[in-house]
Amino acid sequence: MSPLPPGLLREELQDIEPYGAPQLDVPVLLNVNENPYPPSSTVVADIERAVTAAARDLNRYPDREFVALREALAAYLGHGIGPGQVWAANGSNEVMLHLLQAFGGPGRTALSFAPTYSMYPEYARDTHTGWEVGHRDEDFTLDPERAVALVRERRPHVVLLPSPNNPTGTALPHHVVGALCEVLDGGVLIVDEAYAEFRRVGTPSALELLPAHPNLVVTRTMSKAFALAGARVGYLAAAPEICDALRVVRLPYHLSAVTQAVARAALAHAEELLGAVDRLRVERDETVEWLRAQGFEVADSDANFVLFGTFADRHAVWQGMLDRGVLIRETGPDGWLRVSIGTPVEMAAFREALTSVTSQTKEVGR
Ligand SMILES: *Cc1c(COP(=O)(O)O)cnc(C)c1O
Repeated sequence: MSPLPPGLLREELQDIEPYGAPQLDVPVLLNVNENPYPPSSTVVADIERAVTAAARDLNRYPDREFVALREALAAYLGHGIGPGQVWAANGSNEVMLHLLQAFGGPGRTALSFAPTYSMYPEYARDTHTGWEVGHRDEDFTLDPERAVALVRERRPHVVLLPSPNNPTGTALPHHVVGALCEVLDGGVLIVDEAYAEFRRVGTPSALELLPAHPNLVVTRTMSKAFALAGARVGYLAAAPEICDALRVVRLPYHLSAVTQAVARAALAHAEELLGAVDRLRVERDETVEWLRAQGFEVADSDANFVLFGTFADRHAVWQGMLDRGVLIRETGPDGWLRVSIGTPVEMAAFREALTSVTSQTKEVGR
């Protein structure tokens, strides 16, 4: 392939590698926080029926306002949320892009606190939104006073905060979310709850704060707890005025009839699909305990992954794991690695591979 003529591509996109974890063919995939349990044959049969019904009308454009899906999502969320307070798109990644298209843009800024999800600066870049980063504390929590002070100083239009945070697994307490909403006068706070269903008992959801804060947006996804990453369905809950604003920037008919049908069929089986979540939470807590018992440093996790370390050469450990058929993720602050929670068999393979790799490389946790 010959390179593009100079000046053809937007300057800020030159020499940029596309985002994405390696998609490798290995036996144990623990790198992108997928749910390891596929939908049951009952769920698959219902999805099949729903897609067949949708196929009969594929000559027509889908319901642009995806009313039935919004109703189903609102019912799932509870907390008194109505369909007019729900928005959905092709993955919460697209939901986030819609939010930045509407509330970010040229001359505006978005802010987050590192270490955090590496896609956020990309949404900012792609929407010509300025990008600012604050920092989390050593234990990956967010100091409310420092966070509020930074927001007061920089006056961002959008603040992006995952809870639980990726890649650290750290959830946000209510008082931090509330304080940021208050100080964000003229801006929106997006709490990215992609992993909310995995949170530990006693960890709150920002959904509870929606009635008190009209500038709060809570995003969710069907990719993780719902085991539906392949369907690409993300959504949010917020004030109806915020959802209305997103209708202006979305592409026409952005959510295909097939996607809407699949999502609704899956939501009808929410209880069953979420059944694996409890098993994964137990497996997560056991993984944290095991890693700590081996002497590793481990971040407390409310998600379906665990960040652990620290390694003088984390790439060597990552590669050693891969050589043993276990793919984990090289992400987060230097020296740390992230493992997604899989089935008991997969986690046994993870433990065995890590023990073998660290004994050979003489890498030990601090
Ligand atoms: C996985 C993940 C998402 C979900 O992305 P989808 O586009 O819905 O698959 C969103 N935010 C964070 C922080 C994630 O880790």
